[in-house]
Amino acid sequence: QPANLQPLIAELTGLEIITDSTQITKLSQDYYTFSPILQPLLSDKRGALVVRPMSEAEVIQVAAACVKYKLPLTVRGAGTGNYGQCVPLQGGVILDLSRMQAVKWVKPGLACVEPGVKLAALDKQTRSSGWEVRMLPSTYRTATIGGFIGGGSGGIGSITYGQIRDRGNLLAVRVVTMEDTPRVIELRGDDVYKVAHAYGTNGIITELEIPLAPAYAWAEAIVAFPDFMTAARFGQAFSDSDGIIKKLVCICADPIPTYFAAFRNVIPAGSHCALVMVAESALEPFAELVKAYNGTVCLQKSAQEASKGTTLVEYSWNHTTLHARSVDPSLTYLQTIFPLDKEMKLVEHMYQHFGDEVMMHLEFIRIGGAAVPAALQIVRYTTPERLADIIHYHEANGAFIANPHTYVLEDGGMKTVDLEQLRFKEMVDPYGLLNPGKMRGWEERAENL
Ligand code: FAD
Repeated sequence: QPANLQPLIAELTGLEIITDSTQITKLSQDYYTFSPILQPLLSDKRGALVVRPMSEAEVIQVAAACVKYKLPLTVRGAGTGNYGQCVPLQGGVILDLSRMQAVKWVKPGLACVEPGVKLAALDKQTRSSGWEVRMLPSTYRTATIGGFIGGGSGGIGSITYGQIRDRGNLLAVRVVTMEDTPRVIELRGDDVYKVAHAYGTNGIITELEIPLAPAYAWAEAIVAFPDFMTAARFGQAFSDSDGIIKKLVCICADPIPTYFAAFRNVIPAGSHCALVMVAESALEPFAELVKAYNGTVCLQKSAQEASKGTTLVEYSWNHTTLHARSVDPSLTYLQTIFPLDKEMKLVEHMYQHFGDEVMMHLEFIRIGGAAVPAALQIVRYTTPERLADIIHYHEANGAFIANPHTYVLEDGGMKTVDLEQLRFKEMVDPYGLLNPGKMRGWEERAENL
């Protein structure tokens, strides 16, 4: 360990510090490996040491020490992000918040939590009083709420509640600053978006207040269809069925189902399928909708059965990509939002245009009050140029791409510099020590401010 870390370590006496090289390497990585573009850029990046605080007071202690020695600090939850969000580009301290797991209180429709609580644990706890987490990433078993707010976008539940960025899906945060004397700031209302989805460049979140939804018993089903567009139209119709309570509407084109080892004997060969979560109380009307689209239910589980064995959650969203890559590691993916169009003409065009090179995987989400098909298509990767062509072709035809092949905040889904976030960073992180290299607006701030 480099000699210049000794004074820092001395200052952090009493805190859990990891200096073991193998552990540091592991805790410097995330799931950027899904991207063949990011792999060579990030594989050798690592922090100098890891600190695991137990409380906000300890976080302040680490922040103050990093400011004193002008060391970069990169916050980490569970490290399940996909774009190298928590990979330290310039070394320094990795602040692992996974031990700050307290659920401070649960009230009807609201919870106050520490950032390191795992989403599955939180969901389990709120359920005991009749509430559930509104939306979960498919990594909910391991991912933390702080990491979801810091780097995620939405997931299972977004068909009803929209995405994290929609007003109302995050109520308040407490953040520790990186000023000469670190402070704790509470943000409420629209101000929460100064730090949400900022990759930890804007302050260290130490507490969050999040809204909850009434808890349902979620049945799971796989419905097979002989052609893709019927499956897609079923997905749209199901999403638009306001009377049927649902949490997941995932549509996978053939051959994606062949990557699901657990369902190989369940989903008929050559079928396109819908993976759904529907309230148990709504199974009857759901069956009518399936009939109207000539679908075949090839698997159905009660909520209790689903909670025990394999859950479809872990086949949806980016877990679909995970399963495909476990069969063929050369596969990668795209993130797309298709325009609102009940006929899904652009979805159909892309499906036909690219064929098996871009395998269609739709995730319906609610945007501005309407259900639209988002997509995490699985791509047969050949070259960086071809991947760029595929992205440009989508954009030129009116699809929105949130590029998963960049670690730069603005180049993913945001596209432009968020001036509110940039101004907030100027205040709370004047030395630019938080996750340096991730926010383009900061790197080029002379032009932006
Ligand atoms: P990390 O990866 O540790 O951190 C994410 C970012 O947040 C980093 O930039 C980090 O610096 C920052 N951060 C972490 N904690 C804090 C804090 N306390 N204060 C400030 N900044 C912080 N994402 C989705 O949105 N939806 C999905 O359905 C989804 N599915 C996925 C499936 C797979 C197979 C994989 C590999 C990833 C998926 N993801 C998904 C991405 C990721 O799993 C989620 O966004 C997850 O919520 C991240 O949580 P984490 O604790 O692992 O965060």
